Amino acid sequence: MGRALDRALAGLQERITDEIAATGVDERQVAANHLAWAVARAEAARACQEWSKATGDPFAARLAEAAEEEALAFAQGRSTELGALDAGRLVEIHAGHRATEDLGASGEHRLLRSTLRAFAEKEVRPHARAVHRQDLDVPEEVIRGVAELGLFGLSIPVEYGGTQGAAPDFRAMLIVTEELSRVSLAVGGSLITRPEILVRALLRGGTEEQRRAWLPAIASGEKLVAVAVTEPDQGSDVAALTCRASRRPGGDWEIAGTKLWCTFAGRSELLMVLCRTSDAGHRGLSVFVVEKPAFPGHHFVHRQPGGGRLTGRAIPTIGYRGMHTFELAFDHYRVPASALVGGEEWLDRGFYLQMEGFAVGRIQTAARGVGVMQAALDDALAYTRDRRAFGQPVATFELPRAMLGAMVVRVAAARQLSYAAARLLDEGDGQFESSLAKLYASRAAEVVTRDAMQLHGGMGYGEETDVSRYFLDARVLSIFEGAEEVLALRVITRSLLQGVTR
Ligand SMILES: Cc1cc2nc3c(=O)[nH]c(=O)nc-3n(C[C@H](O)[C@H](O)[C@H](O)COP(=O)(O)OP(=O)(O)OC[C@H]3O[C@@H](n4cnc5c(N)ncnc54)[C@H](O)[C@@H]3O)c2cc1C
Repeated sequence: MGRALDRALAGLQERITDEIAATGVDERQVAANHLAWAVARAEAARACQEWSKATGDPFAARLAEAAEEEALAFAQGRSTELGALDAGRLVEIHAGHRATEDLGASGEHRLLRSTLRAFAEKEVRPHARAVHRQDLDVPEEVIRGVAELGLFGLSIPVEYGGTQGAAPDFRAMLIVTEELSRVSLAVGGSLITRPEILVRALLRGGTEEQRRAWLPAIASGEKLVAVAVTEPDQGSDVAALTCRASRRPGGDWEIAGTKLWCTFAGRSELLMVLCRTSDAGHRGLSVFVVEKPAFPGHHFVHRQPGGGRLTGRAIPTIGYRGMHTFELAFDHYRVPASALVGGEEWLDRGFYLQMEGFAVGRIQTAARGVGVMQAALDDALAYTRDRRAFGQPVATFELPRAMLGAMVVRVAAARQLSYAAARLLDEGDGQFESSLAKLYASRAAEVVTRDAMQLHGGMGYGEETDVSRYFLDARVLSIFEGAEEVLALRVITRSLLQGVTR
């Protein structure tokens, strides 16, 4: 990273850290937020620079310079609007633009990307618009296709029926998610996110019996997964959850309470549910795997022989349609003792298993953002090339060219930041970097899809153009898997204060 950026960041970090140390993060949220964003931007620039060095590619070097310029401006408290950046460089980036997603990738990763791209174009593309506009279910043939490619088992070791070899390969997981999200965030791009969260928790804390019971079924796609953490009165404040699991005579558990925003809960057969098992804040939560039948559509009621009931109602949303996101009501719902993940050893310690799962959820979300913004960028490049205004193609005017150049930089920076985090995750580290990647990519996806929509003019606002769907879908990324503000303040800044960084 350039010395100027290093200096600016170090100065900012020292000043804000001192202020926060004196008062606490919550007293200085605006400053703490600025610090988290400055670090995220600087790390994105650093990742681009490492990539450009490793590849020796002059175009990658241009992108790294532009990412660094923006990170520096932000760290120094200057504007990062287009007018404050080097317009000539952005126009050049647009002029020299070419696909860079495979630049520096291994042969295996290139092959994986081309396989996934072909699959997504053939199997997902035909459904993407209709599912969004008519709020349909994700088609079963898409789920089957994802299962047949072994994608549900990417991070499940072979001994449990998955396809993960001797060493984890998080970059492969990101490539899969990018390519599916490039066509549709909801129909393809998010299918493997929830299973990955549960798999991570099971590999960390599940008993051998639980791993053998669930992992092969998840890997084969026989059982799909939903994750139920959020509640009507608590979302970001996970430690305050109230949905309760109580032990019954004989050892079974009974779940009572409401969960909100549980994506894919209808179609899934396994619900990963974080429940309160004692009254000790985050130290009183446990993870349960609740088995249920799969239901199509927007409503379901599942009644148990003993009188227990689970009701689901899909909450209408502006985007991210297809999997449907449910309100769930557990009413005296019985689960066996074996549903408690990790058994007695992990009773009341489910918070930590859930957070471990969320680290993978966050890097997944970064990749989802990269896929969606890549799609928006591709469409904007093509549209502005063909569309004429005032007698010439839109892509020949300086401002649209600079906007497109800035989009190219953001997509590359988000992608390289997520790959840098993936390398660390492979080594068993990288939780902090996954949070940075999630923060950066989610906002970048919003900005890029917004600008892509803008460059489509009126067509961008029409439902018949994919770019409006990309914008609506991208909007959710900063909300879930850790709302942007909470991620910046409570995860990233806190980690910085504790020195949990590279
Ligand atoms: C489409 C969709 C799908 C989802 N899927 C799932 C799922 O599958 N499983 C699941 O469990 N959840 C899911 N969620 C829920 C999601 O994770 C939560 O919405 C998110 O965690 C935020 O919680 P909340 O909605 O309660 O917002 P709140 O926590 O009420 O936050 C509201 C606002 O206040 C801000 N805020 C909160 N606390 C602070 C603070 N201390 N300082 C500063 N600002 C603060 C937040 O950043 C946010 O901007 C989904 C949500 C959506 C929209």
